[in-house]
Amino acid sequence: MPLGFDFDEEQELFRSSVAEFARKNLTKENIKKWDRDARFTKELYEKLAEIGLAGISIPPEYGGQGADSVTTGIAVEELSKVDFNVGNLLIIDNILSGGIIASYANEKLKSDILPKLCSGQIHLGIALTEPHTGSDAANISTLAKKHDGYYVLNGEKASISMVGVASYFTLFAKTAPELGSKGISAFLLPVDAEGVQPYYFDDLGYRPLRRGGLILKDVRLPEENLMGGENNGFKIVMQQFDYSKTLLALSCVGAALGALDDAVEYARNRKAFGQPILKFEGVQFRLVEHYTKLEAARLLCYRTLWLRDKGKRITKEAAMCKWWAPKLAVEAIHDALLTMGNPAYSTDFPQEKRLRDVIGIEIGDGTAEIQKIVVAREMFGREFIPYK
Ligand SMILES: Cc1cc2nc3c(=O)[nH]c(=O)nc-3n(C[C@H](O)[C@H](O)[C@H](O)COP(=O)(O)OP(=O)(O)OC[C@H]3O[C@@H](n4cnc5c(N)ncnc54)[C@H](O)[C@@H]3O)c2cc1C
Repeated sequence: MPLGFDFDEEQELFRSSVAEFARKNLTKENIKKWDRDARFTKELYEKLAEIGLAGISIPPEYGGQGADSVTTGIAVEELSKVDFNVGNLLIIDNILSGGIIASYANEKLKSDILPKLCSGQIHLGIALTEPHTGSDAANISTLAKKHDGYYVLNGEKASISMVGVASYFTLFAKTAPELGSKGISAFLLPVDAEGVQPYYFDDLGYRPLRRGGLILKDVRLPEENLMGGENNGFKIVMQQFDYSKTLLALSCVGAALGALDDAVEYARNRKAFGQPILKFEGVQFRLVEHYTKLEAARLLCYRTLWLRDKGKRITKEAAMCKWWAPKLAVEAIHDALLTMGNPAYSTDFPQEKRLRDVIGIEIGDGTAEIQKIVVAREMFGREFIPYK
């Protein structure tokens, strides 16, 4: 099979329409306001819905675009170049939670929830992490006990995005604690269910995606809110993470490319010692090195998405993307900030915010160390991993 590295005409047209949307709507003023207020506006949600991005990868029968992985990646990259958080909103809504609902919820829940997501009326979140369990996700302790046609949930989810934003969470709880990761199930939790108590974090970045927690006290969920059958939750979430991790990595690449482009523009015009600073090799080389590394990471991300569209397993590739791209992005944005000198140390320029936002995804959806464990497991075999 010939190897192709070009986007086709349709993909390029789509890329320019998303870039145009981002230029027009993700203005400096808006981005600053969303960051300061730790919330997006209804107007943004409506605009994302108008151009079909709110439900980009949700199946068309529920009002979405049914976009493939590469096309979704293009949207995420272009939005993230301008505002990382808007790119990430798409990932959480469409992939991390909407994707699970579209694949595993019953028909009634799907047709109730997904059209509202696609029209920008509601948002979704995913609740796996707990106060005492992050990387070791199989070790969650939230319990779901079946009783009288209901599941009764008790426990606490912490460090989850979209608290106060999402109307529903895809939530993971133990239905058979004695089975470890094989005893976890996925549920659809309406946040207005009785017994759900939200609380909020005041974060460094990623602010409109509002991280916080949910305390669950005797929350009764009807049986039909179980998704994908009992005890299949861990498998479901790990498969979905392969997709979300790749897109998150691509969003980091997008943010870093946006930062470098801004730095180049600045360096063309800023003079020192009578010359535009872009003439100095010390400045050029720093930028060129980051562009080179980001291009390699970008190709890895798109190839991973392309493999997914071909129906291939992408666990190894997705983990490679996720350990590497956020790290490269943080380094590139840091240098882009330094290239612009003192003004970029202020909130008047977007570099400091990009840095704050992207650092979050060095942790969120799994740290670099955990991704390297996944790559090692895939490459060397489970027998060389010291964990169950
Ligand atoms: C911005 C942001 C958004 C998030 N959004 C969500 C969300 O929407 N839903 C959700 O469920 N969760 C979310 N999370 C939580 C996130 O997935 C967890 O923070 C992540 O999995 C890491 O867990 P932890 O923070 O508890 O770190 P820990 O597990 O406590 O790890 C601490 C440190 O130890 C290292 N470490 C742990 N085990 C090993 C090991 N075996 N070998 C080497 N090093 C190790 C880790 O790499 C890390 O550096 C979010 C987090 C952030 C920062």
